Amino acid sequence: MKRTAENKAPVDADVRKSVKPVICYPIETLPLQDTSQYAAARATMKLTGEMIVPPRDAGAFRVTAESFFRIVSVDGPQVGDLNLWAQDDLTERFYSGKTRALHGTHLSTGDRMWSSFPHMRPMATITHGTLDWYGFDADGSGVHDVIGTRCDPYTNRLLNGSNYHRCCHSNLTRALAAETGLSLQQAEAHVHDVLNIFMCTGFTHDTHQYFMKASPVRPGDFIEFFAEIDLLGALSTCPGGDCGAEHSSDTANCYPLKIEFYHPDPKALAGWSPPEPSAYSLSQRG
Ligand SMILES: [Zn+2]
Repeated sequence: MKRTAENKAPVDADVRKSVKPVICYPIETLPLQDTSQYAAARATMKLTGEMIVPPRDAGAFRVTAESFFRIVSVDGPQVGDLNLWAQDDLTERFYSGKTRALHGTHLSTGDRMWSSFPHMRPMATITHGTLDWYGFDADGSGVHDVIGTRCDPYTNRLLNGSNYHRCCHSNLTRALAAETGLSLQQAEAHVHDVLNIFMCTGFTHDTHQYFMKASPVRPGDFIEFFAEIDLLGALSTCPGGDCGAEHSSDTANCYPLKIEFYHPDPKALAGWSPPEPSAYSLSQRG
């Protein structure tokens, strides 16, 4: 946050400030994805299972490559925090920061969830989202952000001096531990920055601080993903509910989220193959 400057602006300050911004990571050179193949697969997919994540809790789930899953709003407006790992290697996990650098602060249809180094490949591709009409509002906020990290008991303790045990970080840790048999301490090390499903966020115009406002999600809304690789996921139903007031407490109205699993006709994905890990290796250095 920029506070009051202690230094006088130089005489050429306006010139220095008026240079043109350059996109850090132009995505025109990203390997092309065949969007028509996703569309063809979606047209054939059938619901094969579903699970409910209760309020202020989390659930882990597994999806195989070449299948779809949806996160669905059911009883009321609710934000979800999503973690993804490669099913056979928890060290390959969703890389929120790099995904933000490539696709921007908020994700939408066609964007991909990229994995950590040294793998750096798409783990999942967003194939539909009923809130895509929202775009960016007058406050500069949008939905499905990759800027927040996840509500956690450590920051809550730091700022409020209290202990709260239903933060998304803790919910995700418990869900991963229950799914894998890892201890809570072991599982916690694998929990990472999330995709904030349905959360409506932005940065204030004056101080550029992270803010949230009540999510526009309503029952029936969903976001849909194509699993590019075999995935282990965990979804937390944030104790902030629609995140319109506060989180890290039992104050907000909270609702469950539903995860639906869909399988397409394999014929619709003929010729498709999972993305390979990055071809770059540190061992290539001299
Ligand atoms: Zn949360």
